[in-house]
Amino acid sequence: MNSADITTVKSILSQPQNIVIVPHRNPDGDAMGSCLGLSGFLKTKGHNVRVVSPNDYPKFLKWMPGNDEVINFERENPKAKEAIENASVIFTLDFNDFSRVGQMASALQEATADFIMIDHHQQPSDYAKVTYSDVTMSSTCEMVYNFIDFLGETNGIDADIATNLYTGIMTDTGSFKYRSTSSKTHRVVADLIDKGADNMAIHQEVFDTNSPSRLHLLGVALSNMVILPDYRTAYITLTQDELDQHDFKKGDTEGFVNYGLTLEGIVFAVIFIENREEGIIKISFRSVGDFSVNEFAREHFSGGGHNNAAGGRSETNMEETLSKFNTILKSYKDQLNP
Ligand code: 5GP
Ligand code: MN
Repeated sequence: MNSADITTVKSILSQPQNIVIVPHRNPDGDAMGSCLGLSGFLKTKGHNVRVVSPNDYPKFLKWMPGNDEVINFERENPKAKEAIENASVIFTLDFNDFSRVGQMASALQEATADFIMIDHHQQPSDYAKVTYSDVTMSSTCEMVYNFIDFLGETNGIDADIATNLYTGIMTDTGSFKYRSTSSKTHRVVADLIDKGADNMAIHQEVFDTNSPSRLHLLGVALSNMVILPDYRTAYITLTQDELDQHDFKKGDTEGFVNYGLTLEGIVFAVIFIENREEGIIKISFRSVGDFSVNEFAREHFSGGGHNNAAGGRSETNMEETLSKFNTILKSYKDQLNP
């Protein structure tokens, strides 16, 4: 954020505001951590704050401080709409385009509030009065820490705020291993631990609360994996029937795509997950090195994200989606074998 933006934000927040904070649809740890962390902070500054999520999110995030107050736009529609209509300020966190909030987009478009965006994805849209966008950042949670720092208020970070911000940095950095994890990230994390984030407890809450059926589903996913050494690519498929047979719950497939990248020599990993209710195949893309999955997802599968982690969708069935993918892949052979 430049100094003009910081002045604008300080001026807006100098009066008590009706604030709504919004994560992207299907929020992950970084989306929920940044929303709940910022919410906790703004409440201590005397604002009226509500977090409105476009839809539900996984159980392994539902222990987070402030979780009970989250309004689900799908389930509590009138309450969510009223909060958005009455808001004087709306923060949009961990996304940068209204297309990422699904059905909630029209409510945001009609809102009269001033928007403040804090986000680390590529190609931000131009809807906010203040845009704090930085694609080099590990996570939106690290940016929320910086945002609080720009206001000169890191002393106001309590244990609950620290816990939320730690969670999002941890999940978005793959537990501090991705390239975007800087020494600054580690300094922020160190300060969050000093302020009361219990790092071991957070890791256990997020990673060590598996159900047996989820691990069995992982077994199916790994057996389904197709490895294409010529393209340094590995992909996984999961059909709706396979999900149903394993008592699928939201979030159960989180992280499965990464297994492809643990194979020696593989630089591009994909998972195709059938969603019969939405009539789509949801796709996650991951890469290591220079191959941009953001561009690949944007160009071919109506998606986007970061250079090394992106998502998208296909509106045809699994067979046709795979056939399209395999065809497209041919033209990327050189890029995948630099
Ligand atoms: P995931 O594969 O874990 O759902 O998402 C990986 C990254 O890509 C995340 O940063 C997420 O926000 C982004 N992403 C996932 N799906 C989409 C999509 O459909 N469109 C766009 N623009 N970004 C996506
Ligand atoms: Mn993020």
